[in-house]
Amino acid sequence: MPVNKESYLVLNNQLKEKNVCLVAVSKTKPVEDIQALYDLGQRDFGENYVQELVEKEAALPKDIRWHFIGHLQRNKVKYIAPFVHLIHGVDSYKLLEEINSQALKCNRIIDCLLQMHIAIETTKFGFNEEELVNILKTVPKYQQLNTMKNVRVIGLMGMASFSENKDLIRSEFRNLKKIFDSNVALSTINFQLSTLSMGMSGDYTIAIEEGSNMVRIGSLLFGERNYTH
Ligand SMILES: *Cc1c(COP(=O)(O)O)cnc(C)c1O
Repeated sequence: MPVNKESYLVLNNQLKEKNVCLVAVSKTKPVEDIQALYDLGQRDFGENYVQELVEKEAALPKDIRWHFIGHLQRNKVKYIAPFVHLIHGVDSYKLLEEINSQALKCNRIIDCLLQMHIAIETTKFGFNEEELVNILKTVPKYQQLNTMKNVRVIGLMGMASFSENKDLIRSEFRNLKKIFDSNVALSTINFQLSTLSMGMSGDYTIAIEEGSNMVRIGSLLFGERNYTH
């Protein structure tokens, strides 16, 4: 199934009007499909798998902003550290430490979003609100956030439950926005929340109504995926 250019143009206009950043999720899709959206002006692309991202980065234009949106294993951070634009799924303090040390080696500062667990499903990764607060406050284990000079936490990311229940999805997004708002005033050298990444093909309109300013959209633009992973 080819890239849906018409959908892209309509969606892109809608989101621009609302100041919502569109991350086109191109996982499992060929470089030709990415290039097709690039040619229409899209620059932010999201990938879930390190190996696939590294290969695509090498093959495609250098001004693409690559978002890593999947679950990132610590031992793979080094492969994407030289070029990744934003890591959405930071779900442990140890991962943040590893990103910091790999970013240092590349002489970069890497922007990150902390992934919050908002869904009822237990399989989705992320912090709960208490853990987030612990990272921010001076719980001894976390005091070093200020000393991690090569990462910058610029926002939060979350995924709603995989469900047909729109009220449930809405309440989960609303909860994430509430967590975001209650920490937005907090500002340190490398922590300042401005980005709220929530919403996918099936639920992005609800997410935007609930305050998202970054959506991650795949199948709506690229068609359904055949999972090979
Ligand atoms: C695959 C994926 C998306 C995009 O999903 P669609 O339903 O195809 O829009 C968004 N976010 C994450 C974390 C994903 O893994």
